[in-house]
Amino acid sequence: MPCYRCGARQTDPVRGASPWQRGVRNESQVLICPDCQRLHDLDLDACGTCGSTALICRLGEVECRSCGAVWMARSDTPLSGSTAPPPPGLSAEVEAALNRVLGRT
Ligand SMILES: [Zn+2]
Ligand SMILES: [Zn+2]
Repeated sequence: MPCYRCGARQTDPVRGASPWQRGVRNESQVLICPDCQRLHDLDLDACGTCGSTALICRLGEVECRSCGAVWMARSDTPLSGSTAPPPPGLSAEVEAALNRVLGRT
């Protein structure tokens, strides 16, 4: 599976953990190459509980690898309800960093 963003192909895995990151975007499993991981507009799905983007998607379910939360993909009942959802791609972590840079708290 190539990088969803730039289409780069995964090279032969080196020993140890792959530098490629797995994530979920639009409730589909994607791979992110090391280059694209440095970008802050990855537009990955984030956990509604802890904000982590370390998610895995399988069999219609999305599971958070950080806190273990599991929810149905393609759910008709988004967590955000009637409130406006956060901008896509902004994980809580990135948002917090942006807020620091912009002087917001
Ligand atoms: Zn890439
Ligand atoms: Zn989580």
